[in-house]
Amino acid sequence: RLHNLVQELKGNIRVFCRVRPVLPEEEERQKGLEHLHFPPQDNKVLVLSRPEESHVGRERRGDIRYDFSFDRVFPPSASQQEIFEEIALLVQSALDGYHVCIFAYGQTGSGKTYTMEGPDALDPETRGMIPRAVQQVFQGARELTEKGWEYGFTASFLEIYNESLRDLLAGRPERGAELEIRRVSSISEELHVPNLRCVPVTSEEEVLGLLQTAAANRSVARTALNDRSSRSHCVFQLRIQGSNPARDLRCASVLSLVDLAGSERLDKSLSRGERLRETQAINTSLSTLGLVIMALSNKEPHVPYRNSKLTYLLQNSLGGSAKMLMFVNISPLEENFAESLNSLRFASKVN
Ligand code: ADP
Ligand code: MG
Repeated sequence: RLHNLVQELKGNIRVFCRVRPVLPEEEERQKGLEHLHFPPQDNKVLVLSRPEESHVGRERRGDIRYDFSFDRVFPPSASQQEIFEEIALLVQSALDGYHVCIFAYGQTGSGKTYTMEGPDALDPETRGMIPRAVQQVFQGARELTEKGWEYGFTASFLEIYNESLRDLLAGRPERGAELEIRRVSSISEELHVPNLRCVPVTSEEEVLGLLQTAAANRSVARTALNDRSSRSHCVFQLRIQGSNPARDLRCASVLSLVDLAGSERLDKSLSRGERLRETQAINTSLSTLGLVIMALSNKEPHVPYRNSKLTYLLQNSLGGSAKMLMFVNISPLEENFAESLNSLRFASKVN
């Protein structure tokens, strides 16, 4: 396929930048976007000097301070549909046996969950990448049955908090139990998570039901533990098994969609005890993810998968012929300027 060829030439990692709109409740604080510019068709984010810094050196207000390029840049006006159109082929390739990993990276409040899940899974306009990807996969599978393919799917949803894994689909008795990552056998590099619920699914509606269960499980934890949702990684995975008996062909792949923990740097001097552990865990896993992606794109012999639970869990789905996409979500607010710059820098390093 042309798409696959093009990707091979470009490498298997792509980075899309998305800047969310200023929300109605934020308009009092900030009307428009003055410090970020998106030249049409350029796939660039230009960071302009901010008004209050305009006196620094010879820089004038509106001068370009930083210039970042990505595979795609989506301005605040971009719809979920427009964005999904750019990842549809990538998602579709999971049916051809490619592992596909899609991440959302950014500070809390930058639009990661909006991008991945959407504000309302039942609203066809605003639903996010997970429901759209799932619909696309089921639809693609139906089309491929005409060519003799048969598919089976299972879905799982887990959370990684403080470097420990928890099943978001577990029922009452097992809820909260810590899960482990194990090798399938001592001679295999393949990993699995014993006791993780992998629910057989056949339709988008069934997956939406699972997303609701996961959301309910997460909000239980939120009230108990003071919004830990922004400090945990949420990993949705759809396992795909295909076979074509007439041609004696088989394929297996995993489509992973990951809503990462907020990338903001919490003030270490103010972080103690539990909070400090959280901060360290998040920093370790996000920086390890960056290092893993960089090692893969530079084709380095050693890839530090084992340095964090997230990358260890995804080890089989990162690298090799796997395809990766990272959304870097950006807040449009000037008060988030420093964090936005950190995110843009992180994302251009892995690009
Ligand atoms: P995060 O998951 O990164 O913490 P959210 O996805 O929760 O951020 O987004 C923060 C707020 O901004 C939410 O109220 C969300 O509905 C809103 N939002 C984010 N992206 C968009 C968008 N593209 N269009 C409209 N509202 C958005
Ligand atoms: Mg979120």
